[in-house]
Amino acid sequence: MKSLSSLPKERFTDIIHMQIPFRKVHESPKSFKLKNNAIECFGTFWRSGKSLVTIQGELKGEAEFVCDRCGEIFTAPVDESFTIEAVDRPVKVEESLDMVECSDGIVDFEYICKSEIASIQSEYHLCPNCKDKEDFEMEI
Ligand SMILES: [Zn+2]
Repeated sequence: MKSLSSLPKERFTDIIHMQIPFRKVHESPKSFKLKNNAIECFGTFWRSGKSLVTIQGELKGEAEFVCDRCGEIFTAPVDESFTIEAVDRPVKVEESLDMVECSDGIVDFEYICKSEIASIQSEYHLCPNCKDKEDFEMEI
């Protein structure tokens, strides 16, 4: 399960389906779309089990990253797709990372988009300067 602590602070606006009650999600896929200044998150979701909603989405835009080598904050394009399952029961720690718990019976797309961005940000990233250096070192 994902931690809430490092989610981006910026709120999403301009929304189709920001939050939807679990019980209102049916088997036929519906679309969702959220965006803030820098990034757009959109895709489809449908009921895939009694306590399960599958969400397939894409993130497009720009996000801020921290360079893993020099600590510099830089902006880079994001173009990622993701699949996540929302469950309306508590998620155990040993369960999949791609599961999100909806304990209050609400599928929260803002939370899901933010946690997807946070998980992209938590991967290994080098700023353009360090990336250039690394390419240069590899050539030698
Ligand atoms: Zn760097």
